[in-house]
Amino acid sequence: MESFAVSRQDVLDQVSRINAGRYARTRNFTDGGTRISPYLTRGLVTLPEIRDQILARHTPSQAYKFVFELTWREYWQREWTFLGDRIFSDVKREQHPVSSRRIPRAVLDAETGVDAFDTAIHGLYDTGYMHNHERMWLAGLICNLGRTHWWEPARWLYYHLLDGDPASNSLSWQWVAGTNSHKKYVPAQQNINKYSPLRQHGTIIDHGYGVLAEMAVPDLLAERADLDLQWSPPPSDDPSIDPAKPTLLYHSFWLNTAWRDNVDANRIVLLEPSWFARFPVSPMVTDYLLRCAREIPGARVVVADFDDLDLGQDVTFMGHPSVSHWRGTADEMPLMFPDVPKKSYASFTSFWKQCEKTSR
Ligand SMILES: Cc1cc2nc3c(=O)[nH]c(=O)nc-3n(C[C@H](O)[C@H](O)[C@H](O)COP(=O)(O)OP(=O)(O)OC[C@H]3O[C@@H](n4cnc5c(N)ncnc54)[C@H](O)[C@@H]3O)c2cc1C
Repeated sequence: MESFAVSRQDVLDQVSRINAGRYARTRNFTDGGTRISPYLTRGLVTLPEIRDQILARHTPSQAYKFVFELTWREYWQREWTFLGDRIFSDVKREQHPVSSRRIPRAVLDAETGVDAFDTAIHGLYDTGYMHNHERMWLAGLICNLGRTHWWEPARWLYYHLLDGDPASNSLSWQWVAGTNSHKKYVPAQQNINKYSPLRQHGTIIDHGYGVLAEMAVPDLLAERADLDLQWSPPPSDDPSIDPAKPTLLYHSFWLNTAWRDNVDANRIVLLEPSWFARFPVSPMVTDYLLRCAREIPGARVVVADFDDLDLGQDVTFMGHPSVSHWRGTADEMPLMFPDVPKKSYASFTSFWKQCEKTSR
């Protein structure tokens, strides 16, 4: 079973082995990609430090594709900051047609008959990871062939992903479903046969794109299942603090051991039940969070809502949309393109153009 690193040094070592040229050639294949997303989502490392590490070893043209893909993450994070909870419903237009809001049972049980999907779903359950192309194919199958509204399936995927990120997840599902893009993304067996070793013929998606776009919901996707996604909280450490020291607060998207590491402080990783009730994660994800948290010297993991705690007057945390209700000093999440105006952009392309302009 694939395991993901939790120590910052292991992560940086892994990043130091990324070959950006090879990445550009192989990213769309199911054995391509760097698999660093859990580290970025959990804040073990930041986007600019990864970008700078890659640029220190590659020419800008070799690094272009990698930086381009990293920028998608920055774009979705910025959109979340500006649009807030609006990213959790259809952002640009309503999804159409929709026959159900419930996930097809065949997907939940990894029994779609398409080996690439069923293997990817088993992989998700076993490792907490799924390749980008597999996510696109699967979301396309569920939303556009199965005519399922994207929200419940997105919650299911998020629950299992070690890199589960509300913005990248919701907005990518919406990009596939056409509520945040001009065109729906439809998966075809011929495309899977090109990018995955699991080649097949005669499956429910072994048709041309024209047929797939107009197809009625395949019988295999018609049966629906109810999701029961619950968060099992870990035991909480004692939340009391030494009032003589400042308090540094971490959250599930910021578990960075290098952050203010020279300060003598109370260090608390705060897991808020109210957040996890809205966005539940699996026991495997919780375990990953705890293992990352244990890397922070002296940190205690407290399971409580911010408003129920007395953390003293001197509280500092890393600003993030999930903790906009926290009070204290919010540091600013490091950005790759801090000079690009902070506003909502109509498309990734318009954001990327601005990023390229400021990098010249
Ligand atoms: C339906 C769907 C759901 C998704 N849900 C999430 C999610 O919950 N969390 C998440 O981090 N990503 C999500 N993504 C984006 C993308 O699939 C993952 O970031 C990527 O697969 C992570 O693998 P990697 O680290 O090997 O990526 P690489 O290709 O090696 O890219 C390097 C890094 O760039 C960023 N990145 C690359 N592509 C994207 C992208 N399209 N959108 C945003 N960031 C990107 C990631 O931080 C990634 O780790 C989703 C995509 C789809 C289609």
